Amino acid sequence: MQPMVGRNYVGGEWLAPRSDFPSTNPANLDEAVGHFPGSTAAEANQAVDAARTAFPAWRRTSRIHRADCFDRLAKLIDRDTDALARLMARECGKNILECRAEVVEGLHMVQYVFGTGRMPVGDIIASEIPEKDAFVLRKPWGVAAVITPWNFPFAVPLWMLGPSLLEGNTTVFKPSEDTPAVGQRLVELFVEAGFPKGTINLVHGDAVAGEALVKNRGVNVVLFTGSYDVGKRIQQVSADFPDRIVAAEMGGKNAVIVCDDARFDLAVTAGILSGFKTTGQRCVSASRILVHESLIDRYAARFVEVAKRLKFGDPLDPANFAGPLIHEDHRKKVDGYNRLARQEGVQVLLDAEPAAGGRGCYLPPFVYRTEAKPGLRVIREEVFGPHVALVPFGTDEEAVRIANDTEYGLSMAVISESYRKLRYFRDECEFGMGYANLPCIGAEVHLPFGGVKRSGNGHPSAAALADTVTHRVAWTVNHGTEIKMAQGLTAEV
Ligand code: NAD
Repeated sequence: MQPMVGRNYVGGEWLAPRSDFPSTNPANLDEAVGHFPGSTAAEANQAVDAARTAFPAWRRTSRIHRADCFDRLAKLIDRDTDALARLMARECGKNILECRAEVVEGLHMVQYVFGTGRMPVGDIIASEIPEKDAFVLRKPWGVAAVITPWNFPFAVPLWMLGPSLLEGNTTVFKPSEDTPAVGQRLVELFVEAGFPKGTINLVHGDAVAGEALVKNRGVNVVLFTGSYDVGKRIQQVSADFPDRIVAAEMGGKNAVIVCDDARFDLAVTAGILSGFKTTGQRCVSASRILVHESLIDRYAARFVEVAKRLKFGDPLDPANFAGPLIHEDHRKKVDGYNRLARQEGVQVLLDAEPAAGGRGCYLPPFVYRTEAKPGLRVIREEVFGPHVALVPFGTDEEAVRIANDTEYGLSMAVISESYRKLRYFRDECEFGMGYANLPCIGAEVHLPFGGVKRSGNGHPSAAALADTVTHRVAWTVNHGTEIKMAQGLTAEV
């Protein structure tokens, strides 16, 4: 297949690249998926200018017409689902079945946005003066910079671009430098769907382009999803712009809690899916399975038996369970955590040899058992790979203490047949997305997606993002012929 040639899209024009970087297939480092512009700060700033220019006309466009653009986009995504999934599998190494599910998730977001176009946009509130009506409505902020990670290169941008554009903001999208081809195709579909020029702008590149967007005073909202370190940096830079909104969705160190009354097979499946789907590279992946001490020996034996059977291989082969890690540096980082676990004195239960052959960034599952000792880094830091700790606990209170003993708070799952236990863990654990008798992965777009502590700063994504990309205004109208003031204030002059 011919490598793609990427371009920035600014103010309705595809621009000739001035420099380029390759995007490679993590399952085969000899295959270039394409070449994309490594944008400079000046190029990023040009895109913000284009978005600013387009903002007044777009915010005045009928909300229904803005929503109609998403109806056309939905049809195009539906048309191209298989091609998009294949491109994603080649570029980010996720298994084709997961890639397909992600395209469908992106489609659901676009359908949700289209449907929302005809829903109420505010409230009418009574006044203490009978002749007055008060309205609460939402206005767009202006220009939203959308900076996204590689692991959900299609759905995550749509979680942010969708609500932003529907509400009347214009956007500059910077996809991850690890998945620019998927970002490029997504913007091509926006263009084909007829979004007016300047409403969506595309800037490829790495931290240089990303940071230029964040430093640009013309950006009113930064919508970021990615690692904690970058999210923190973006919030530090944005401290110079106190009138700006920054939504930062960041990493996780998630736990599945298996109680003594758990359905055993369900608990094993929930643990395996949470730990190893997407090769452990979901923000909501669980790298900690807390298991009641009465079950831990049996659970560990079955968990390892199932983990050994999982096939990690060619992302385009649906018979495989998962694929490689995103790139060689990340493979080394996860391998470093596997070595750190040994240094920290855990009991290693599974450390398989990588499958032979190929130039892919493969790393097989690493499973170990450990007590939750104070200061153990591997059970507190995000690893983002197929690296799972099995941790025994005695009481429910102890399980909560271990689950919360990390600086992250994104997702969790509890496996129990007792409604009292389910409620206890729901109320005591620190998380944004919780699951009962399920894996701790599996978002749906009409639910808020976000976390607490180092996982998020309180602006959940997907459907919930409408609150972040708009500000509420109160609008009070007098239907009477004279002025009457609230709180008994006199209107005499
Ligand atoms: P990353 O933080 O390395 O990069 C994310 C984006 O930020 C990229 O587009 C990158 O180019 C850009 N960037 C880097 N430095 C920047 C800077 N100084 N200023 C502005 N932009 C900058 O993350 P990644 O490796 O692509 O993704 C993995 C991480 O994302 C994991 O930590 C994962 O948990 C997290 N994640 C979180 C969620 C969530 O919703 N909470 C979802 C998916 C992934």
